[in-house]
Amino acid sequence: MMQIYNTQTRRKEEFKPIEPGKVRIYCCGPTVYNYFHIGNARPFIVFDTLRRYLEHKGYKVKYVQNFTDIDDKMIRRANEEGITVKELGDRFIKEYYTDADALGIERATVNPRATEHIADIIALIEKLIDKGLAYACDNGDVYYNTQAFPGYGKLCGQNLEDLESGARIDVDPNKRHPMDFAVWKAQKPGEPAWESPWGMGRPGWHIECSVMAKKYLGEEIDIHAGGEDLVFPHHENEIAQSECCNGKIFSRYWLHNAFLNIDNRKMSKSLGNFFTVREISEKYDLQVLRFFMLSAHYRSPLNFSADLMESAKTGLARICNAADSLKHYAGAAKEAEMTAEEMTALEEAKNLAKKFDDAMDDDFNTADAISVVFELVRLANSNVNENSTKAFVQSLLDELLELGDILGLVFETKEEILDEEIEKLIEERQVARKERNFQRADEIRAELLEKGIVLEDTREGVKWKRA
Ligand code: AMP
Ligand code: ZN
Repeated sequence: MMQIYNTQTRRKEEFKPIEPGKVRIYCCGPTVYNYFHIGNARPFIVFDTLRRYLEHKGYKVKYVQNFTDIDDKMIRRANEEGITVKELGDRFIKEYYTDADALGIERATVNPRATEHIADIIALIEKLIDKGLAYACDNGDVYYNTQAFPGYGKLCGQNLEDLESGARIDVDPNKRHPMDFAVWKAQKPGEPAWESPWGMGRPGWHIECSVMAKKYLGEEIDIHAGGEDLVFPHHENEIAQSECCNGKIFSRYWLHNAFLNIDNRKMSKSLGNFFTVREISEKYDLQVLRFFMLSAHYRSPLNFSADLMESAKTGLARICNAADSLKHYAGAAKEAEMTAEEMTALEEAKNLAKKFDDAMDDDFNTADAISVVFELVRLANSNVNENSTKAFVQSLLDELLELGDILGLVFETKEEILDEEIEKLIEERQVARKERNFQRADEIRAELLEKGIVLEDTREGVKWKRA
């Protein structure tokens, strides 16, 4: 039985999808104003692993992760760079994919962008207004009317009064209640804006997720996920918008990862205590970062340090070495009937695969699941030698690689790439760029990044360095 911890009920519950065999997941994605940092990477990695595990269990998963490509930070950064918000979004969505691919994050079924759903957003706001759930102010702002939704606060387990007394909110004379939040913001000078029944403006943050979840997954979804800072107000507000409008439970399960910390403080752009994934990729293969993230349970805070990254690197290398040696033995092994000892060892290996699933069934405990992988490595190291049969070695190897695949990890030692191969690929990339074949050019950059080669486009041409 698969159990997952539901933030809303504050307990582990048996996982039962709405439609048997199918799972619909919405995971809140990045605001694309910069490279994403390794704190942001935590939800992307852990919920990608959740998806992979569900797929391994035979579920057909539809996975939606949005790009927030309009908000104050986007506008500020675009102004600083002297480019449009659209250009900024295009750029960092591309950079997101480069890093996410190298982290082994499977592409989502859909990655919708907020600015490509303005008409749908306006339609939802109109519906909210019609139902008395939102109100337009004279200045063109539109607010959600929290008092009209009796369930407001149910995700974080508080009512409107508790929330009000706990929050630091600017008094806004336009609001009917201090907890009301903007679903549409009137244009300020110099800001990008879209036409709407309330004048030129742009959507508030929360509304995009209600709209895109419904558009791509329907009115009822199985799992809604994100970092724990999203519980309030973001997810609370999404519930208010969606449930009032659709008259249905928005999401069955709410999953939230704990923070990635540095010196026991949340890693965040505003505190300036962050490393981007791109920076880490200059020092480590990003599989090491993924392994590091999964070595803790997603609901436990995780402290980032150079030492812990080093031990993740060593741990992953141990597994990769075991896989390499299994490959070597499998190539050389004899075709013969498995011995009785081998059959016993294989039986143990099968039990470990079951133990791995048990760990993952227990609220996706990747920390325990990784311990099981090490058990399998020990079993392989102590049972495989030059006399082993092919069938035995191959079975152990297949199992090890399959467990890796569920975790999004490729257990193999990366081959060193030679300088001349790098130069050849860089040349090919230059030709591709000249021919405006940017897709190929990006592929080459990603391919090199995966091999630990970082490219830098400078005025004097392309420079590269090894991570
Ligand atoms: P943002 O781009 O700020 O909207 O954040 C994208 C995702 O990263 C959200 O799910 C956040 O909750 C999550 N997040 C941000 N900082 C951290 C952190 N230090 N640790 C874990 N998750 C984080
Ligand atoms: Zn969201």
